Amino acid sequence: MKKIISIVWLFLATILFAQNKTIIQCGKFVDVKNNKILNNMTIVVIDDKIENITDKKVAIGRNDTFYDLSAKTVMPGLIDMYVHLEHETNAKQYLEEFTMNEADIAYRSIGYAEKTLMAGFTTVRDLGGTNVNISLRRAIEAGLVNGPRVFTAGKTIASTGGHADPTNGYRSDLMGNPGPESGVANGADECVKAVRQRYKEGSDLIKITASGGVLSVAKSGENSQFTIEEIQAIVKTANDYGFKVAAHCHGEEAMRRAVIGGVHSIEHGTYMSEDVMQLMKEYGTYLVPTVTAGKAVGQFAKIPNYYPDIVVPKALAIGPKIQNTFERAYKYGVKIAFGTDAGVFAHGDNWKEFIYMNEVGMPFMEILKTATINAADLLGQSESIGTLEKGKFADIIAVDGDPIKDVVVMGEVTFVMKAGKVFKNK
Ligand SMILES: [Zn+2]
Repeated sequence: MKKIISIVWLFLATILFAQNKTIIQCGKFVDVKNNKILNNMTIVVIDDKIENITDKKVAIGRNDTFYDLSAKTVMPGLIDMYVHLEHETNAKQYLEEFTMNEADIAYRSIGYAEKTLMAGFTTVRDLGGTNVNISLRRAIEAGLVNGPRVFTAGKTIASTGGHADPTNGYRSDLMGNPGPESGVANGADECVKAVRQRYKEGSDLIKITASGGVLSVAKSGENSQFTIEEIQAIVKTANDYGFKVAAHCHGEEAMRRAVIGGVHSIEHGTYMSEDVMQLMKEYGTYLVPTVTAGKAVGQFAKIPNYYPDIVVPKALAIGPKIQNTFERAYKYGVKIAFGTDAGVFAHGDNWKEFIYMNEVGMPFMEILKTATINAADLLGQSESIGTLEKGKFADIIAVDGDPIKDVVVMGEVTFVMKAGKVFKNK
């Protein structure tokens, strides 16, 4: 009798407490880790995680949800290591600093976040804005806003007059003298304070502008803007807080200092020499190429008055070079993590980086690896994202057609699941 009761109880428990599954039937399944395409795989998702991936038949329970993606190519959600979710390029962008309140920026960023997710980017690293970024991350985490999983630098750290000095180019009575609190630091002590301020505000990582940049109202796009002592102070303090450090960099000397100083990635890398490539291989530093942004600024600079006069020659000189920099670094064997600098061009067009990387010889499977496994590694999140494996977040996307034959299909992502929740299915 006791035995019967326990069997009945077990039966009831299975029905009552069984977790509802989401079952995804895949046509082609891109196994990025093993560089293989598998046919007819099934993914089982419970809550926000992958429970199982199998080539066997999976029974579909009454309360389970089923997605038939048997005509699609299924792969891990994409990761863009360089976006600016607060902003998108437009002809009035330099005025916006004086006309938009934080709330205006916040509402606008909601649309950019959603566009990014719908393009198949389930995780992004935001490399600098205001603290609106941090609030946006929280709103997405709380499910209030549809967007990718965000890791953000918060306010970028620059030196006085540097690429991310927030009052750079203003008339003198508006310039003031922003300090570490606003992300402007000079000397090792202020650099330490600027990093700690980011921790206090809730950043996930640190971004510095090691050299001049294209879009700031300043003369040089490539001069060195931190000493090696300052960079070392930033990296050392960042390490105390578990922060990785990303360094925006176009100039060669600035890159050398950043790599030796211990940053984890060089963004753009425009005037990279073989010496620096060699250093990056030795130090294990990633390059985040941003070819799409380079192409975009080169185009916008040709539209009269789109950028301030001082920006135009920098955009024309630096922008078009970046694809070649990526090609040289890739062929030299520098580690690459996918990143676009979206915001400098329209959000949602992040996928174009696939085309530009492919154009100079990188095959689709390798590009996808930079946008999944490598990006997750650079984020320090390999345990939870970057591949489709049991126990990881169910960040799953699909396209129609075969991206190996033609990467342009990456522009039409037709299925998006982030953390087990479906945001797009058409
Ligand atoms: Zn930059």
